[in-house]
Order: sequence, then C-alpha cells, then structure tokens
Amino acid sequence: MQQFNRRRFLQAFGITSLASVTGVSGAIAGGYSNGARIVVVGGGSGGATAAKYLKTFSPGLDVTLIEPNSTYHTCYGSNWVIGGFEDMDNIAQTYDAMRDRHGVKVVADSVTAVDADKRRVHLAGGDEIKYDKLVMSPGIDFRYDAVEGISEDDAEAIPHAWKAGEQTRILRSQLTDMPDGGVFVMVAPPNPFRCPPGPYERISLIAHYFKQEKPKSKIIVLDAKDNFSKQGLFEEGWAEHYGDMIEWRGASDGGRVEEIDVGEKMARTEEGFERVKADVMNFIPHQRAAKIVHDVGLTNDEGWVPVDQRTFKSEMDGNIYVLGDSSVAGAMPKSGHSANNQGKIVAAAIVRELMDQEPFDPSSANTCYSLITPDHGVSVAAVYQYKDGAQAGVDGSGGVSPSGESADFRKREAEYTRGWYKGITYDIWG
Ligand code: FAD
Repeated sequence: MQQFNRRRFLQAFGITSLASVTGVSGAIAGGYSNGARIVVVGGGSGGATAAKYLKTFSPGLDVTLIEPNSTYHTCYGSNWVIGGFEDMDNIAQTYDAMRDRHGVKVVADSVTAVDADKRRVHLAGGDEIKYDKLVMSPGIDFRYDAVEGISEDDAEAIPHAWKAGEQTRILRSQLTDMPDGGVFVMVAPPNPFRCPPGPYERISLIAHYFKQEKPKSKIIVLDAKDNFSKQGLFEEGWAEHYGDMIEWRGASDGGRVEEIDVGEKMARTEEGFERVKADVMNFIPHQRAAKIVHDVGLTNDEGWVPVDQRTFKSEMDGNIYVLGDSSVAGAMPKSGHSANNQGKIVAAAIVRELMDQEPFDPSSANTCYSLITPDHGVSVAAVYQYKDGAQAGVDGSGGVSPSGESADFRKREAEYTRGWYKGITYDIWG
C-alpha cells in the first residue's frame, strides 16, 4: 500500500523511481539467488539495461549477454557527430563495467537461431548456450523493399546512419566533402520507426553545420508522413536559426518517395511531383524488428513483436521476453529511454517470476530531447502506466517544451540534453 501511494505521488509529478518502474523494492532486491540461467541477446539500450538490472536485483542469477560488437555507438548523440560538434569516441560505450562491476558474462558473438523447445541459443561462432529465460532486445532492421531501386548494398553510397557507428562516419564524411551550394536530401520513413524526432534533429544539426561552413547549401526533406514529432518546435527553431535553408515536404505534398536512382542520387516521388536530385542523400528506410526475432517466429504481420505489455513476455513463447525497438509497446515510443525503462521492467518481471510472485503493473517514463543548435534544446516527455492490457500514457503527464521561449530557456534544455545523455549511458553501461 505504501508503495502504491508513493507511485501515485511520483506520477503526479511526472517522475518515476526505480521501484515504480520495476515493482522491486530494496527489500526484494539484493540477496535472492537461484542460479537460473538468463541469456540476453543484444547489448544496446534495452539488452544492456536488462542484463545489468537482472544482476542488480538478483546477484545470484547466471546472466550472459550476447553482443557481436565490443563497442556500441549510441544513436543518441550521433546527430551531434553528424553536425560536426561531437566526437565519435564520446558516443562509444563498452561492456567493461558489465563484466567487471556487475558480473555479467559478455559473449562477443551473434545469435543465429533459437531452439525454443530445448531452450538453447545458437551462435554464429558455433557455440550453443542454454537458458531458463531468454531476453531479446536486438533493435531494428530495414525494409528496403518498400522503395524501388535501392538495397542494403547501397548503404555506403547512400547511408541511412540509423544504426550508429560506421554509418555515422560515412554520412559525416559525405557532408564534409560536399561543396558549398550543394543539396542535401533526407528521405524520412513512415511510422513506426526508431526515434520519432531523430530525423528532424539531424536536419537541424546539418543546417547548423552548413550555416557555419557551407551557407549556400540547401536541405530538402522528403517525408513519408504529413506531420512529425515536436513539429511546431522544430519549425520555429528552423525559422529562427536557418531562414529558408530547410524545405520539408510532407507525404501529401510530394514527399512520398517511390524510387531512388542510386547512381544519380535522384529520388522519384509520386506521379505529379518533381524528381529531386541530391549531392548527398540520407535514405532512412522503412523499419521492422531485427532479423533474429523474425527468424525465431516472434513477429506479427506488421513485422514487430507482440508482447504482454505488463512484463514484455512474448505472446508466442512464455520463456522469451522481447523489449526495446523490436517490441510493440503501446504508447511508448521506440527510444533509448523507453528501452532503458523496459529493461528494468523485464529484469523485475523475471526475478518476480522466479520467486513465484505475481507480475506487477509497471509505471515508467520517456523523455526525448533534441538539439536544434548546440545551444537550443527542445523536449517531449510522457509517463506511462500499464492499464487494460497496454502501456498507456497517463492523463495530464508530460508534454512538449513551450513555444516562443527565450534563448536562455532553450540553452538550459540543451544542457539538460547533455545531462540526460550522461545519466542514461551510465545507467545502461556504467
Ligand atoms: P539497440 O540499442 O539498437 O540494440 C540492439 C543490439 O542488438 C545491437 O547492439 C545489435 O548489435 C544487437 N543485435 C542485433 N541482432 C543480434 C543478434 N542476432 N545477436 C546478438 N546481438 C544482436 N532514443 C532516445 O531515447 N533519445 C534520443 O535522443 C535518441 N536519439 C536517437 C537519434 C538517432 C539518430 C537514432 C537513429 C536513434 C535515437 N534514439 C534515441 C533511439 C534509440 O537509439 C533506440 O530506440 C534504442 O537504442 C533501442 O534500443 P534497443 O535495445 O531496442 O536496440
């Protein structure tokens, strides 16, 4: 009862505590141990959080994290690199603390198959690992088949930069090579996709770079949607800082792209609208859950993983939990902050199940900060509560930054953006 009241209190102020996210109080966390084997697939925002918090809530668990890359570059902050005011090294995370501080076994490999009957995962390197519970947070993959003329093989010529790392570097170097007066074209994806405000932060920060170094250049966004996250705030910021450098075309206004001529860097839009030629093109493909969850048979017709949104347990298999961008999570957006909250929910749900306790109704939150210049931040925030079978937004919680605010206010939000980055990356990989 005490915890219920505390949770209600925190919700009223749009704040969530670890206990409200997880239903695991200090009294439960700590000494419990039964040696159950938990395998976590993917060391990104969701998987790394789940692995760390499984060990935090129940140090006796045998937790193995499988991730092919020894360094994870966060997508958050990758637009700052593309905008030319952040270094790739500063968005790189490692698994040292996971291994040395939290006692998670980290295996540098990829899962190629899951034998759900025998509860075993198969690795590309040939090994097999047995599990009692499997957690999967493998992120997204792309549906290149939705637009003609372009495939995954073209990602070097026309980068997506929607998984950070090498792709981020490629897009940045194409921009630095582009002459002043060139045209940058972004092809933005339809919903649902990873990080709803992400394309528009990217546009803003490329405009910031052009304004400093290549002021005669132009930016055209061809969007598969008619509106986007924090649109009013972005458009206000674009008018304030970049004049008419950015031209955004919504789906009904010639933004829907049907074909790309990769050699020419030309986008063909719907009949009746003009073709658009780029010097640098950023094609962000339509998206779906990562390949491995399709291969395991966990996805629905739309290409995402339906789960019990109270625990993130797969609807297809009671021993597999799927979280992060791959999952269908009600009102929660596909974001690093959501994946981080879901990682704690999953860790707590597994510990409670192993202790024969009933699942709890988790409450969580999301904030997505975006920079329009390095000193102009805007945000959207919301609080979620599991209700009537889904993660639902709590009435009256959250909202977006006010419009028409002072430069000082925007600067403070830019500082919160960097603070958020430090906090969340420490919470996940620290
Ligand atoms: P990921 O973090 O992508 O992790 C998936 C991991 O699984 C990867 O490391 C991958 O190597 C691994 N993997 C995949 N398949 C296998 C396999 N078969 N075997 C083993 N491992 C596998 N979110 C925010 O909250 N705030 C932001 O400001 C923000 N900015 C963004 C900006 C951009 C440009 C982009 C693209 C995204 C941004 N996001 C932001 C979104 C955020 O990055 C994702 O929503 C989040 O990382 C999703 O977490 P995840 O665990 O589902 O997937």
